[in-house]
Amino acid sequence: PLVLGIETSCDETGVGIVRGRTLLANVIASSMDEHARYGGVVPEVAARAHLEAIEPTLHAALDEAGVTLDELDAIAVTSGPGLAGALMVGIGAAKGLALATGKPLYGVNHLVGHVGADLLRPPARVEADFGAAVAAPDDRGELELPTIALLVSGGHTSLLLVRDLIDDVELLGETIDDAAGEAFDKVARLLGLPYPGGPQIDRAAASGDPRAIRFPRGLTAPKDRERHRFDFSFSGLKTAVARTVEAARDRGDEVPTADVAASFREAVADVLITKALDACAEHGVPRLLLGGGVVANARIRGLAEERCAAAGVALRIPPLSLCTDNGAMIASVGAQLVAAGRAPSPLDFAADSTLPVTEVQAV
Ligand code: ATP
Ligand code: MG
Ligand code: FE
Repeated sequence: PLVLGIETSCDETGVGIVRGRTLLANVIASSMDEHARYGGVVPEVAARAHLEAIEPTLHAALDEAGVTLDELDAIAVTSGPGLAGALMVGIGAAKGLALATGKPLYGVNHLVGHVGADLLRPPARVEADFGAAVAAPDDRGELELPTIALLVSGGHTSLLLVRDLIDDVELLGETIDDAAGEAFDKVARLLGLPYPGGPQIDRAAASGDPRAIRFPRGLTAPKDRERHRFDFSFSGLKTAVARTVEAARDRGDEVPTADVAASFREAVADVLITKALDACAEHGVPRLLLGGGVVANARIRGLAEERCAAAGVALRIPPLSLCTDNGAMIASVGAQLVAAGRAPSPLDFAADSTLPVTEVQAV
């Protein structure tokens, strides 16, 4: 089926078009720059930016795919989780389109969308985005299920067990405080590096020693492993970095930015990949899928590759343009729902900022 997907849960206005598993268009307008001076995404600013970007992004996607609204089989839109005001812009636009064209509308779970991204066969033009884990689009083969999925972004750090994309997604654990991307952004700020912090820390870390400072690995102590086996916590780590930075300043020393960045990045990568592989072992699932914007991180990718190879776990990392928030991943889940013969969502479904991952489709 030919499906158009709209994503507005955070700071990316994304419109994607897919035909089944084939990616036809993936256009993204980001308001990230507008949030830079606040050091994080400001909900009202994001919602207003979506309002301005949604129509041009929609037209650009239709142009890129070379299709008309008439030809679509369905429209899909992120219904949650995410920022309420931001979600409402996408949902409003999608409902308007559905009403105007008479096409069926599917409200789709954003986190499931990140998994659905991996179903897509990307067109030649995004080949340059492929990371070291994959040689070429055609070599990637199909996503096999069940798989463990680790989704890491500015808003989420979630570990999922996916047995079936639209029928059986289980949340194994998630962050109990900051998301991994948020931690990168906050630590960058402590180091005086600009927003978004992830790429800045990644760059600074390249010339640092990851063993210079032993930062804490949240929720890995035996007492935490009972209740929080697959949960994450990054606030203690952030505090530890703050103390290190303050101590250096109090002594009148220069802050060892590269070493702090490298040691911090190592702590995040270590805890993410350790828990993801623990989940693979515990559930007997030798497959790990990564998603979310933080997957751009060189050490997270590198450590995942090393440890997955050692553990005999097949690692999948979609191209980065499909890892960050985008409309194509929402269209991909929509296409699966259509193909499975699911009834459309009712036109009165609402944005749900805390939608659980078990609710794949808005009802
Ligand atoms: P959501 O949480 O709704 O999926 P988001 O907009 O918060 O969306 P993304 O756009 O997927 O998240 O990713 C942005 C986050 O990824 C930011 O926190 C940014 O600092 C982080 N990030 C980007 N590149 C890197 C990197 N190389 N290393 C670590 N973090 C990175
Ligand atoms: Mg974003
Ligand atoms: Fe996301």
